[in-house]
Amino acid sequence: MARAHLYGTPVSPGIALGTIHFLHTEPVPDKRRIVPSEVEAEQQALRQALEAVREDLRQAMNKVPEDLQEYREIISAQVEMTQDPKLVDSTCQLIAREQVGAAWALNCVVTQLCEVFRNMDDPYLRDRAQDIRVVGMRILNRLSGATDAVQAGDNLILASEDISPADIMDLDVHSIRGIVTREGGLTSHTAILARGMHIPALVCVTNLLVAARDGDKVIIDGLGGNVLISPSEEDTLHYSRRATAYSAWQVAARNTAHWPADTTDALRVGVLANIERPHEARELSQVGADGIGLYRTEFAFLRETLPTEEELYAEYATVVQDAPGRAIIRTLDCGADKLTRAQQAFKEPNPALGLRGIRFTLHHQDLFRAQLRALLRAGRLGKLSILLPMISTVEEVRSVRRLIQEVDQELTMRNVPHASRVPLGVMIETPAAVLITDVLARECDFFSIGSNDLIHYLMAIDRNNRHVAYLGDAMHPAVIRSLKRIIDSGHREGLSVSACGELSSDPFGVVLMLGMGIDSLSVSPSFLPGIKHLIRKLDAQACTELATQVLLSMDIPACKHMVNEMLQKVLGHELSFMTSAVMGGHA
Ligand code: PEP
Ligand code: MG
Repeated sequence: MARAHLYGTPVSPGIALGTIHFLHTEPVPDKRRIVPSEVEAEQQALRQALEAVREDLRQAMNKVPEDLQEYREIISAQVEMTQDPKLVDSTCQLIAREQVGAAWALNCVVTQLCEVFRNMDDPYLRDRAQDIRVVGMRILNRLSGATDAVQAGDNLILASEDISPADIMDLDVHSIRGIVTREGGLTSHTAILARGMHIPALVCVTNLLVAARDGDKVIIDGLGGNVLISPSEEDTLHYSRRATAYSAWQVAARNTAHWPADTTDALRVGVLANIERPHEARELSQVGADGIGLYRTEFAFLRETLPTEEELYAEYATVVQDAPGRAIIRTLDCGADKLTRAQQAFKEPNPALGLRGIRFTLHHQDLFRAQLRALLRAGRLGKLSILLPMISTVEEVRSVRRLIQEVDQELTMRNVPHASRVPLGVMIETPAAVLITDVLARECDFFSIGSNDLIHYLMAIDRNNRHVAYLGDAMHPAVIRSLKRIIDSGHREGLSVSACGELSSDPFGVVLMLGMGIDSLSVSPSFLPGIKHLIRKLDAQACTELATQVLLSMDIPACKHMVNEMLQKVLGHELSFMTSAVMGGHA
């Protein structure tokens, strides 16, 4: 193929050079007409393909290595999908009704199901459309008689519409250098897998399936969002150097990750980790985390059935016991739209502004009490704090306090060992919460700034609407002033203030929040050593002066320029190894 330069969304940092290997690239099947006497045979072919795929997936499940055990669950969900009546019965009915071949019918049903999921508001569920697509592609492959056998090779860059854990299990995991996909998002399996394997990955790479062929040389740049197909010698030389320099930087940052994050003028900043699966907790000491700043509890609730209190207790107990310091566990942050359909009580027209976060849990108190019981029980095993999402009124915090008191009494009466006094924190992520931080600060023990939601609620933009994405700028004065207000209000009441949105791993956010006096930052584990390294190079006093100037200004480009200048001064070429949404890619 000729040299091509494509762009994608980086979801796992790093640079990789290798050979592209496509998975599941069956062309869209033809609408093959059949006669009534062939219906039975087509339906039988579909069932056989489903059985073969089920077997492939079960085998893949058995190959999951010890350190990637959590992927068994994902593959097991895909096995279930191959038996889902929505998929199987609908396809059989379509074959009979339209008198068409199994492949075409299956493709129609899979496309429809994907559409249903893609239109969901919750990013986790939206990304589950990819599971359906991946299973669909496997079945289509089988129907066409192809198998997914992969030739051995080194330096593989896997490419596909999307990639699931089962695909990786068919390969020699150590030969995979990177992943590129046409679909996916930050929470897609591709992203989670790549981050877990510490390899670079890009999703949403446009034109990927037309610009590249199996066996093409390729460079993927998970820092800048570039994909180079059939790169020139110059490209190869440039990126080889950059990859070597990035690896050296990463090794150096990891080697010093256990050092405290003290600024050059001796201000200590806590750097904690954001995680969402319990097994991640035990790996955090390797990246130098001072604790868990945000444990998202949504995953357990996204299955077909609600988790039991015992299941939740086991999960939180692991988190608390394996955490390198304090574990801040956030109560369920989802709305009706975020639960599986079986659990959906009703559909809301605008779920982002609806019954989500604390509003949802206060409305479903049985579920909430079970979670709180599990949390208080786990609280006995280590240092645990509870964090409340989407707070917009003081009454919400008071209601939770009352519930915790009741749950505490209930556990005491039943002689169930638990912690009675667990610190309670509030996520500041709605404009209402920002404006009442002075009052909220008297009702809780700590603040955590959820910049992801805060920015989109402040700017009145829909996270999924690309037409208004340009407004999601953390340097907007409304965001900057809010950050300062939250930190100051918390401090006035003696609270510690942390930040756990993506802005905490953005070098621009680090400089500004440090300058405003933030006590700790909580970031994804893959960014943690780099963020500590950055903090150790910053002068807190200089950051304060810069933050003051930014707070007084209305000129966003000028502010970005000022912060960039400071970052260039302290980090030099290392700045290009950090990703920055403020700068729209790598810093
Ligand atoms: C946030 O909103 O910044 C946050 C950390 O929460 P989440 O991304 O889970 O909504
Ligand atoms: Mg949030």
